[in-house]
This record gives sequence, structure tokens and C-alpha cells, in this order.
Amino acid sequence: MISDHIIITGGRALARSFAKINLTLDVLNKREDGYHNVEMIMQTVSLFDLVLVDKTGGGIGITTNLRFLPCNEKNLAYAAAREFFKAAGIDGGCKIMIHKNIPVAAGLAGGSGNAAAVLCALNMLYNTGFSAQQLCDIGLKLGADVPYCILGGTYLAEGIGEKLSPLPPMPKCSILMVKPPINISTAAIYEKIDSEYIPGRPDTESMQRAIASGDTPAVASHLSNVMSTVTESMHPIVRGIKEKMLKNGALGAEMSGSGPTVFGIFPDYASAKRSHDSFAYQFKDVYITAPVN
Ligand code: ATP
Repeated sequence: MISDHIIITGGRALARSFAKINLTLDVLNKREDGYHNVEMIMQTVSLFDLVLVDKTGGGIGITTNLRFLPCNEKNLAYAAAREFFKAAGIDGGCKIMIHKNIPVAAGLAGGSGNAAAVLCALNMLYNTGFSAQQLCDIGLKLGADVPYCILGGTYLAEGIGEKLSPLPPMPKCSILMVKPPINISTAAIYEKIDSEYIPGRPDTESMQRAIASGDTPAVASHLSNVMSTVTESMHPIVRGIKEKMLKNGALGAEMSGSGPTVFGIFPDYASAKRSHDSFAYQFKDVYITAPVN
């Protein structure tokens, strides 16, 4: 649970709000409501934003270290606080400060993670006693990835991403993440996917077996994301990063979410670090992380 990563001191909560990667991502079909049914294995990784939440007498305030992020209800963290107070029936308030480390619009669910952190922090600060399931129900109103971000760890996500089944923890490894400086519209990628004709769908069951047996090379060899073909055709740099990671000794490499972040699973920290250093010449957003469970 993300609440395990929140420290409370008086009326203040300090939360670590982690990024996620998709070990697998399959798009099954489009629903009548416009959403897509998906099947994905999600993993929390150790790259995090810091989210500070102070209890106040009323109103919601928000500041971040990135000038281009909205500081109103368009910020998912702000919307989370509003939904929380509505669900709790409390006339409360809070001041939220977010220090972003997770690149924005990168396929890492950074915004959803911030919303999850705020929901859990307010639940603790206001002693509301919402269960994990109740928090997930509130979170789903904010976005399909928010319930997963509330739970964190290794999960199979189905439906629009909200039907969550826990999996054994991903085996320990070093995960290198590289985000090229391009902007991806998730909606545009979904539009280009014809879920009836997807070549090479992930083998989600084999990935679950690889995770259960703690077999890192098998996990790496089953990484798969049906969105990567679409994103790579528009942005060949994504494929280039994957290929370079594999040349650098990654056991496997794949794109997360709709991209553009690419991650590679390395057998040890030293090889991840060597690859990190070779990418750091070219890109600003390069991180060595590990699974968080
Ligand atoms: P996903 O993987 O769920 O598609 P993402 O990692 O691609 O998400 P985010 O970093 O969550 O994308 O940001 C997507 C959009 O949400 C951005 O355009 C940004 O302006 C907006 N946004 C709103 N609140 C936040 C927040 N707290 N942090 C980051 N982005 C936010």
C-alpha cells in the first residue's frame, strides 16, 4: 500500500508517490463507453515524487516545482482532495506541495500516483478510516490507474485497469528508465490501435509464471506492450533506445504505458549503471530504479 510510504507528523503528511511501469500491456477491445478493456501487469518502481499534505481549516491549495503543471482542479492531486472531502462529507481543507521527479506525460502514471498519495494522506490526517477498497472507489473517479497506485506493488489489472489481482512480488533487479524528449498523446495512440488486429500480444500467463518463480531473465523475456508498435512507428527513437539497452546488456527492454519512457531490466546494478552513463550524455531523464513491493 502507498500508505506504507507516508509519514505523519502532527497535521502534516509526507508521502512518496512512486512511478509505475507496465511489464505487459494488452488492449483487448473498445467498450461502448469509449474506454478500452485492457490486461496489464503493473509494477511500482523506486522513482518517486514527494507529496506534502498539510491539514488546514478550509479550501484546497496546491503548489509544485514545475511551472507548467496546473495548480487548480486540473491537477489530479487537487481533484483527489476535492473527491476525498466530498466522499468523507467533511468540510476540511489542505495545502498540497508536490516536488515532481517523475517525468510528466511519460507513461509512468505520475499524476495518478500523486492523486493516490493525496487520498491516502488525507485518510490518515483526517482519521476517516476508509478501507483500501473505499479509497480505490474514490480514486477510480479520478482515473483508471489511480486504484492501482493506491495499492502499489505487482498487480494484474483488467477492465479499464481497475480490476486488480495481486501477484507475487517481482524479483529484485535493476531497472533503467530513459524518457526521450517527445510528447505522446495517450488518446492518439489508443485511436491508432485496432484491437482486433494486434500482432504479437503479450503472453500474460507466462509473465505471471515468471514472476511467481522469481525468474528475472524469464520476466525480462516476456516484457510486451501492444502500444509500442504504434508509438515506435511515430517516434523511432523509442525503438532506438530499446535496441541500445539490449546492446548494453539488458535482459529485456520495453516501453511503459503509451510511452515514451523505455525501461530495461538489467541483471545487476553495475551493468545498469554503465548503460545509464551512456544514455546520460544524450538524455536528461535517465534513472536507475528497482521494483518496490
Ligand atoms: P499515464 O501513464 O497514467 O497515462 P502519464 O505518466 O503518461 O500517465 P502524467 O505524468 O500523469 O502522465 O501526466 C499526464 C497529464 O496530466 C499531463 O498533461 C499533466 O499536465 C496532467 N497532470 C495533472 N496533474 C498532474 C500531476 N499531479 N502530475 C503530473 N501531471 C499532472
